[in-house]
Amino acid sequence: MKKKVSLHVKCPHCRKSLMDNEVLLHDYPSIKLNIVTPEDRGVVHLCSLYECFDHQSSLDTEKGTVVDFYCPKCNKELLVKEECQLCNAPMVNFVLKVGGRVAICSRHGCSNHYVAFQDITSELSKFYHEFDA
Ligand SMILES: [Zn+2]
Ligand SMILES: [Zn+2]
Repeated sequence: MKKKVSLHVKCPHCRKSLMDNEVLLHDYPSIKLNIVTPEDRGVVHLCSLYECFDHQSSLDTEKGTVVDFYCPKCNKELLVKEECQLCNAPMVNFVLKVGGRVAICSRHGCSNHYVAFQDITSELSKFYHEFDA
């Protein structure tokens, strides 16, 4: 079985933690973000597990909608100048506590919710190290 790695992410602007210890997904703290769609605004909790795409949203967003993500602490937008390779929607960027970064696609329903490390091997081994400690 693959080892579960819970990612601890921070806002790239204010460097505050985006983790929500009160809302657990798969028994791990979730990543809390404010979201804005063309119709409404709300809050989303993303699963923090590496390679898990589960999430809980206060909005019933239609598939295919591009969602704007904001830091709940400083209210700055988390979009980056980078496009999803699958659907060309803007990517959303977080900073990892241990270094490196995470990017997810802002289009609801796109499967390109991926985690990008500058150097995947060394970053992952750091995770496993932290996890074992
Ligand atoms: Zn922030
Ligand atoms: Zn996409």
